[in-house]
Amino acid sequence: MKCYICAQEGNDSDAVGVCIVCGMGVCRKHMMREETPVWDGTYPVRLKPDTEHIKRIICPPCHRALKENI
Ligand SMILES: [Zn+2]
Ligand SMILES: [Zn+2]
Repeated sequence: MKCYICAQEGNDSDAVGVCIVCGMGVCRKHMMREETPVWDGTYPVRLKPDTEHIKRIICPPCHRALKENI
C-alpha cells in the first residue's frame, strides 16, 4: 500500500501504517501517533474520552478533524 498523502503530492512512498479513522495508508512521515479520543465512526462525530491511552495511528486530515471536535 502507498501513502495516500504522498500520492496526492506526487510522491511515491510505502505506507507503514493505516489510519484508524479513515483506513488510508500513511508513510512514516505522515502518520501521526497520538492518544486520540475514540471515535466509533458514527455521525455526528461524538468522541468518548480516551481511557486506554493507546497511541493510535492517524492521518493528518483526520487528526485535524478530531482536534476540531474536542
Ligand atoms: Zn506520506
Ligand atoms: Zn484518516
